[in-house]
Amino acid sequence: MIAAMRMTTFWNAIEDLIGAATSQREWAEMLGAEWGPAATLLRPTDKRAEELVCRKGCVDGCMRRVVSLIDGRLRAECGNPSPICDSVILDEAEVNILALDPQGNRVNASVTKL
Ligand SMILES: [Zn+2]
Repeated sequence: MIAAMRMTTFWNAIEDLIGAATSQREWAEMLGAEWGPAATLLRPTDKRAEELVCRKGCVDGCMRRVVSLIDGRLRAECGNPSPICDSVILDEAEVNILALDPQGNRVNASVTKL
């Protein structure tokens, strides 16, 4: 089982197939109460989200553009031509793309449980 978790190409293929890499904000929104424990299974990548899926406000959802403000903060703005949802100020960490980390903390966590 642990050997399987170290198959990097396999896990990369899974990530590509199911897109198991998205922004920290989207992971947290999707996972809700499970975000805390699940965060140990995710690793940061060197990528940052330029768009976020709107899960509140817009009925059909929209892609919110991540815009840098003059004061350095980040803001997600409604992607609809006529904005439907309110802009959201983001923490810098929220736009970091996190991916599944089958080799790191997950292995350690499963070993710790044994
Ligand atoms: Zn919107």
